[in-house]
Amino acid sequence: MCGIVAYLGGRESAPVVIKGLKRLEYRGYDSSGVAVVDPEQGMKIFKKKGKVADLENVLKNETFYANIAIGHTRWATHGEPNDVNAHPHLSNSGRFSLVHNGIIENYNSLKQVLINKGYTFSSQTDTEVLVNFIEEVQRSGNYPLEEAVRLALKDVIGAYAIVIMDRENPNRLIGARKGSPLVIGVGQDEYFFASDATPIIEYTKEVVYLDDLEIAVVSENGLEIRNLQNEASDPQIQTVDLELEAIEKSGYDHFMLKEIFEQPRSIADCLRGRVNADEALIQLGGLRDYLGKLAKAKRIVFVACGTSWHAGLVGEYLFEELARINVEVEYASEFRYRNPIIKEGDIVIAISQSGETADTLAALELAKAKGAIILGVCNVVGSSISRVTDAGVYTHAGPEIGVASTKAFTAQVTVLSMIAIATAHKKGTITDETFRRLLIEMSDIPKKVEEILTLADEIKDISKLFTFAQNFIFLGRGLNFPVALEGALKLKEISYIHAEGYPAAEMKHGPIALIDEDMPVVFIATRDSSYEKVVSNIQEVKARKGRVIAIVSEGDTEVRKMVDFTIEVPNTHEVLQPLLTVIPLQLLSYYIAVLRGRNVDQPRNLAKSVTVE
Ligand code: GLU
Repeated sequence: MCGIVAYLGGRESAPVVIKGLKRLEYRGYDSSGVAVVDPEQGMKIFKKKGKVADLENVLKNETFYANIAIGHTRWATHGEPNDVNAHPHLSNSGRFSLVHNGIIENYNSLKQVLINKGYTFSSQTDTEVLVNFIEEVQRSGNYPLEEAVRLALKDVIGAYAIVIMDRENPNRLIGARKGSPLVIGVGQDEYFFASDATPIIEYTKEVVYLDDLEIAVVSENGLEIRNLQNEASDPQIQTVDLELEAIEKSGYDHFMLKEIFEQPRSIADCLRGRVNADEALIQLGGLRDYLGKLAKAKRIVFVACGTSWHAGLVGEYLFEELARINVEVEYASEFRYRNPIIKEGDIVIAISQSGETADTLAALELAKAKGAIILGVCNVVGSSISRVTDAGVYTHAGPEIGVASTKAFTAQVTVLSMIAIATAHKKGTITDETFRRLLIEMSDIPKKVEEILTLADEIKDISKLFTFAQNFIFLGRGLNFPVALEGALKLKEISYIHAEGYPAAEMKHGPIALIDEDMPVVFIATRDSSYEKVVSNIQEVKARKGRVIAIVSEGDTEVRKMVDFTIEVPNTHEVLQPLLTVIPLQLLSYYIAVLRGRNVDQPRNLAKSVTVE
């Protein structure tokens, strides 16, 4: 949630920060703002409801020049999105300005203390409380700002990544984090702060990932890091392996479309060096010491949110079917507050694209405290989840910028398939022959996804007929049930059409009441072990005049006769089917949303990387 960018160095700072905010806009986009210190005009703050482009318009008419700036693109948690609640927030004296990602949970009690001391507040945010609290601490002992930040943060409950700027000392920036990400870019006599590395890589590939409870000061003395206990540490500079073109649209209308079309490559990248069908080998370096433990696991618990939770449901089918391990899939936000039972031999696996999802991170920490082995399946290298887990497997899907997850989902399912297959083979619950066949099928997935993508125009034509639908139902069974959920979620997220995903047989227990000639129903009806049953479910819907779009296996003739539209996907091993069946659903949602004139990459109310609980 929310993107932070800050700059200190020899360049004109505002354009650097604005460009960076645009790169982070996927994290939040209800309002944005920037603060600079111009040596002649002092601190200047510009804030605007809406997109970063709206802020840019405001700045067009301004004249100032500064080498220091902090900026923010917001996803509101406290107070509606408007100009006043937008960040940066200013302290009462006008000396300090601050940008913040996260939630200050005890902001109300801090606010009361400050009000009693005469502070006033113009916004409804927790952030304005924080900047004034830092000011109050600073004044109380005339502390240097970094010391005031340290002392203030000791009294703060909640999650934050912050950067603070001082009008009286415009040659330094101070950043800190707990629970929300913050990366520092270290250039030649210049420094950057950002919520992820994408705004930085254009200028430098050298970065430091700030750890929780650390405070970073950048100034003419370089970069200094201390923790909340005031212990200094040497910055660990890492080189980011990310090219600029990976974070740009490369000619596609939307990031989402680019990311859908990237899937043959992202899945291949995920498999690369891991699955070797010729030699019947599967190598997951990150799990080297844990495969034995997985094979012996009594229970696996997946914790995740949103699309990643759907990937977890696919994982449940995979692990139970192939490795015969009892699996539970938990919403991280529920798991963490439920005093869950963890027994010896339990393995908890977190799934998160960003690796920063607040609830998932907290669920993992709880599981660890209860003695579980904790593993991670994340996309962003170096993310918080990847750092707290005992071991894990990266999905290597490349940066995902469209808010509705597509290639991250297929990469997660690819990783879970690999782990399940490797575990099953180690455990002996699948034969060598099945193992070999699965590896061959996995290696073929990228080219099969490529084949499905050639149907884009056909899917676009179908979507034209459903542009004005008000509801949608998605039905599937077995491994295609989570795909039905994911199809419904995609459509809801970006088109705002109400959509439900159900196990196809469950329809009779309620949702069938919704079926009439206006109700579009998407069936995933590939030729697998539940095919005949799904065919019966399709009959039930057709008998009630529902309009059916069916995702079918190549060459299917039976379903084709019964339904209004079919979209064919190539055949594969049944357990790998979700990697193919989800692709047409992504395209269907995309085209419907575009035809409805929606902002596909930045749907309303949503943000990527949910770093608040
Ligand atoms: N809690 C802060 C607010 O509502 C920050 C939200 C964010 O992370 O964007 O303004």
